[in-house]
Amino acid sequence: METPLDQYPPDWPEISRHIRFERAGGRCECRGECGHAHPGGRCNAPHGLLVYRNRPQPWLWQREPEEGFYPVRIILTTAHLDHNRQRNDDANLRALCQYCHLNHDRLHGAALRRQRAIEAGQLELDLPKSCRAMPGD
Ligand SMILES: [Zn+2]
Ligand SMILES: [Zn+2]
Repeated sequence: METPLDQYPPDWPEISRHIRFERAGGRCECRGECGHAHPGGRCNAPHGLLVYRNRPQPWLWQREPEEGFYPVRIILTTAHLDHNRQRNDDANLRALCQYCHLNHDRLHGAALRRQRAIEAGQLELDLPKSCRAMPGD
């Protein structure tokens, strides 16, 4: 029987700890996987610390409060780049802060859903009525 792709392996807590705290040094490893460009090339948001995110550009964060910024405590998570929880080699894993993880999922999820819909010939079902081809098209 095939293991479902969304199931974590039994040693996931140890794998995740190793990635987040040994390899990543407790900081977000995102280098644009979330779809945004981080200053210096890497997000680096520090696990467990309170930082301030820029409201219009929330991938930007700083340690000091400032007008237009909101406070958030960073939670580092471990993401699968290909969203396959059975592939736990280092190259497929990234320690990502919650912002980068969410946006990585969103990008990837949207892309996957679109591809599946196209393959299933159902893409138009996902579009609002006004976007569908007119009869006869
Ligand atoms: Zn991040
Ligand atoms: Zn990011």
